[in-house]
Amino acid sequence: MPAADPAARDAAPTLAARLAWLLPRGLCQLCALPSGEPLCPACLAQYFGDDGPRCPRCALHAPCGACALAPPRFVRALTLGDYAPPLDRLVERLKFGAQPQLGHWLGTQLARRWAAARLPLPHGVVAVPLAAGRLRERGYNQAWEIARGFAATLRLRADAAALARCRATAAQSTLPGARLLLVDDVMTSGCTLDAAAAALLRAGAAEVVVAVALRTPRPD
Ligand SMILES: [Zn+2]
Ligand SMILES: [Zn+2]
Repeated sequence: MPAADPAARDAAPTLAARLAWLLPRGLCQLCALPSGEPLCPACLAQYFGDDGPRCPRCALHAPCGACALAPPRFVRALTLGDYAPPLDRLVERLKFGAQPQLGHWLGTQLARRWAAARLPLPHGVVAVPLAAGRLRERGYNQAWEIARGFAATLRLRADAAALARCRATAAQSTLPGARLLLVDDVMTSGCTLDAAAAALLRAGAAEVVVAVALRTPRPD
């Protein structure tokens, strides 16, 4: 896998792009019709419905040859859809439009999908951390907002500092025997999540599973 580039992954948009994201609340984020939820029922059905089979391991649209050759250290990944228009707007507004509540809502949608797929429930939920400078600038970690929404919906324990803690105490077993759910806003190459999964496994997690709001599709 190519090296992760956290700076590029989280690059700030232009001012014009920021302004375009300031859609008033109470409107559907995709079609701008009045809606009590971030997506109106029609957009929810259209864009968050079944969009075809995906690789259970990395959530790319099937068939995925990559996981057979070099599987990531997480054993399963679930997503709501592709990080592509128009859904990419949701994550961009979450990150750059000062809308942390959108993260909670995306987490709820992911939890519903997790439960609908009858996947084994994780014992705890952790989020990919945000670089300290970015966290100061934004005021919240979008991955943690999604993780909290997921955990609240399924009444699971969410731990904001688990990854930082297990990196600080790398050799110690701090997470014995647990199946942990690792949450991020977008999976692109998968390297960030793979490295985070490795840290959790080193700290004693029995298994790491992943939920991401959106998945970057293959370039083709
Ligand atoms: Zn809509
Ligand atoms: Zn795969």
